[in-house]
Amino acid sequence: MLKKKGILCAWLLGALCMMMSCANEQEVKTRVIAHRGYWTCEGSAQNSIRSLERASEIGAYGSEFDVYLTADSVLVLFHDDKIGGRHVAEMTYAELSDTILENGEPVPTLDQFLERAKSLPDIRLVYELKVHPTPERDRLAAQASVAMVEAKGLADRTDYISFSLEACKELIRLAPDAKVFYLNGELAPEELKAMGFAGLDYHFSVLEKHPEWIDACHELGMEVNVWTVDEKPKMEELIGQGVDYLTTDYPEEALSLTERAR
Ligand code: MG
Repeated sequence: MLKKKGILCAWLLGALCMMMSCANEQEVKTRVIAHRGYWTCEGSAQNSIRSLERASEIGAYGSEFDVYLTADSVLVLFHDDKIGGRHVAEMTYAELSDTILENGEPVPTLDQFLERAKSLPDIRLVYELKVHPTPERDRLAAQASVAMVEAKGLADRTDYISFSLEACKELIRLAPDAKVFYLNGELAPEELKAMGFAGLDYHFSVLEKHPEWIDACHELGMEVNVWTVDEKPKMEELIGQGVDYLTTDYPEEALSLTERAR
């Protein structure tokens, strides 16, 4: 009788552990996005083709990158708004094409970058469209971006983000099936939902002020991305709060935390 009770207790304990592990797995769903690709490793550089390859190699969910439309309408990957005191969006491609990244690569065109992305099928593309000098250029940049992503057959794997509300509106209009997230931080979830956004992608300090926006987004069927989370305690805190995506310069560290929590 005692033996039977012991077996029953062990079985119940096992079932309980399994249920708890399943619940934990459902709870921890944060996916890791490499900020400007995975560049904080040897041989890489921000917004390089290598940074996309490295993000894919370590199993990051996504790789974020920054795109400008040059004055002569070439889409290029670059983060800073200026080179040698001149705005990137006001330079021609020829004027910036001899700029060399820290790992020796030239500044990639979007065409070259997406061509490489086609052969890395497991990584999601998180496309930041940078802010251009006028609303007209923002809209043109959005149009050129959607056209190139679609021409490369990568629409299903691409999410868009931008600080420019003008660019976001155009992206939502032109690519209604794509996820578009807003970066600038001042709009509440209800406002984003009304405009057709898939969610917010805000600096973590915004979510410190408005932690309620995480649940509000989820209740509205939207998602939460947060940048740029490089400190381990902050990563752990945000994973615990249930953000959907964590954008970081240290994706391997973030991956180890999300995997450990599972
Ligand atoms: Mg960016």
